[in-house]
Amino acid sequence: MDTIVLASRNKHKIEELRETLSPLGIELKSTYDFPALEEVEEDADTLEGNALKKARYVHKKTGLPALSDDTGLEVDALNGRPGVYSARYAGENATYQDNVDKLLDELNDVPMERRGAQFRTVAALVTEEEFHTFEGICRGTIITKEQGSGGFGYDPVFVPASYKKTFAELDPEIKNKISHRGKAVQKFYEWLKD
Ligand code: IMP
Repeated sequence: MDTIVLASRNKHKIEELRETLSPLGIELKSTYDFPALEEVEEDADTLEGNALKKARYVHKKTGLPALSDDTGLEVDALNGRPGVYSARYAGENATYQDNVDKLLDELNDVPMERRGAQFRTVAALVTEEEFHTFEGICRGTIITKEQGSGGFGYDPVFVPASYKKTFAELDPEIKNKISHRGKAVQKFYEWLKD
């Protein structure tokens, strides 16, 4: 395996994974290198389903090993919601702010000790012969007010376990190391090395 295509247009994700894979001599391509690739509708009801759907499509179209990922925020007091629907929690065209507002609203009466949550990422690799999934989980707490201006999505209201700052306040390097996506990518890296 000397080339992998990442099913993503997110430049930050592409660069991060490129750096992780370069010591293994693996070249990372992305959706930008294959302009004919279409957007895949993320309509599965699990993170695994969406990640595999995207990776299968990209593998079929490019003939190369394809990797994709899907992430959700699973809130304990909401029985795991919004989960796979995190991007459109507040509606089909919801902004990050709409989603955060809705989350704080739904948790309005929930005391601090019951505001546990986790980000979960599933990365899926599809090759000609096989497929594999790699899961990364980051536990933490949903605070009551937004803090910080970095990151994206639910970062301003998520404080990872053992930290006092939100993902939006933490140094991006620290976030990458302890995050759900970072852990899933690390598992993928270990698997490749083996
Ligand atoms: P995706 O699968 O990476 O597109 O993530 C789906 C949704 O989960 C995004 O639209 C964000 O709302 C949320 N999300 C994913 N990763 C993060 C993160 O690292 N911090 C905060 N929110 C995230």
